[in-house]
Amino acid sequence: MNTNELINVFITVLYMVSAVLFIRGIKLLGKADTARKGNLMSSVGMLIAVVTVLAEKEVRDSFTLANVAHNGYLYIIVAVALGAVIGAIWAKKVEMTGMPQLVALFNGFGGLSSLLVALTQYINDKQTTPFVGITLGLTIAIGAIAFTGSVVAWGKLSGKLFKKSVTIPAKNFINAVLAIAGLAGVCLYAFSGANEKLGFVGIVLVTATYLILGLTMVVTIGGGDMPVIISLLNAFSGLAAAFAGLAISNSVLVVSGCLVGTSGLILTLIMCKAMNRTLYSLLFGSFGAASSKKGAASDKEPRSMSVEDAYLILEAASSVVFIPGYGMAVAQAQHSVKELADKLEENGAEVNFAIHPVAGRMPGHMNVLLAEANVPYEQLKTADEMNPQMPNVDVAIVIGANDVVNPSAIDDETSPIYGMPIINAYEARTVFVLKRGKGTGFSGIENPLFTNDNTIMLYGDAKQTVSSLVSEFEDA
Ligand code: NDP
Repeated sequence: MNTNELINVFITVLYMVSAVLFIRGIKLLGKADTARKGNLMSSVGMLIAVVTVLAEKEVRDSFTLANVAHNGYLYIIVAVALGAVIGAIWAKKVEMTGMPQLVALFNGFGGLSSLLVALTQYINDKQTTPFVGITLGLTIAIGAIAFTGSVVAWGKLSGKLFKKSVTIPAKNFINAVLAIAGLAGVCLYAFSGANEKLGFVGIVLVTATYLILGLTMVVTIGGGDMPVIISLLNAFSGLAAAFAGLAISNSVLVVSGCLVGTSGLILTLIMCKAMNRTLYSLLFGSFGAASSKKGAASDKEPRSMSVEDAYLILEAASSVVFIPGYGMAVAQAQHSVKELADKLEENGAEVNFAIHPVAGRMPGHMNVLLAEANVPYEQLKTADEMNPQMPNVDVAIVIGANDVVNPSAIDDETSPIYGMPIINAYEARTVFVLKRGKGTGFSGIENPLFTNDNTIMLYGDAKQTVSSLVSEFEDA
């Protein structure tokens, strides 16, 4: 065995080690108490994969001291250093509430890198076999859709782009034309043989159509359906990486791409179930079309109460359910909420937390915050577990949640969130809603819960209000 062959064996073994670390890491991520270990394990796997790439023949061959400008290592080191510095600064600066849009953008960058890998491969090797041509074309298509779709999702989540709902007439028809034209581009390239001009037209066609498709597909999504599309884009970015791995014959890219793709797809199906959608309606239906109807605004004014009076009701309660939402993340109220839960338990009340799967702005958002505040897992209940018990709950405390407790999802067929399962807070004997004012939720629609006879608004920053309630218990 010569040195090159020995290095290749070494590279294959290291790729296998990193693939095993990825798989084991994902397994450990499945449980909260082993998640940190899983994260670390996957990071080590990624480090091994990145370092191993530096030993690949193409990269080794690019090493030259004679002409520094042609030394591949120089470009890799500069790119890695630049990416690491930008990533570290960004991650340090980002507020917890900005995390979901950052994750959406990272998804997009994943798609963009696969797209660039495929384009580079095309530039290096214009003539291709049909198999490589198809994998490369699909990498471009899926990478492009993941990129522009994620940028739109980032814009919508951060409120920087498309603040108003957008509708595209004949959206499904336009999307179908774009999708088919792009696939025609993939075939044109894959079967262009020695005809480089035809291949070039194919590449331009698939790149342009799928970049536009990402935009047209996501821009109209509103009404609280965003979580599903974000997790689908996540799956797309993984798939794009897997196809890129096939196109450039890199096994670890195939493995990691498949892991991201399949876990993203599983998450998408879970989210679909949580939102009462099917994957078919997500891909081909008039999914999540942002409605112009904003929900019927009631003439009734919501009833509000002072913290002192609210305390008297809480003090007499024997069962209390917290329903956290995005506002709890904004206020960073989770630690105060845990303190209040402890006080209620000391006072003899049974305390639970009802967690909606799309509460907040990313999957598991509420679970992460409550785990950080050491809320016991046994107290975290799903909608299916909690809803049947809701009529027996003395007080439901809605903390910065809005869409996930909006009864329009049950009884208003014109509502953009109609059909989405909710936490049935309205069925509790008394409902406290903690929010700052009359702001709507992510879907931008009115919430009739706030004017129900059994609802009491406690206006103010959630952390402030909860801390004041804790003080009332302490002073009693
Ligand atoms: P919502 O976005 O519906 O509502 C949040 C509420 O919090 C607002 O009405 C706001 O009212 C209140 N709020 C904001 N800041 C504070 C504060 N400091 N103190 C007290 N209240 C505050 O949140 P939900 O969790 O109920 O619903 C999540 C929504 O986000 C759903 O529509 C979901 O589809 C969507 N989404 C979810 C994703 C996920 O993966 N989980 C991803 C993308 C979107 P006010 O301004 O009056 O205070």
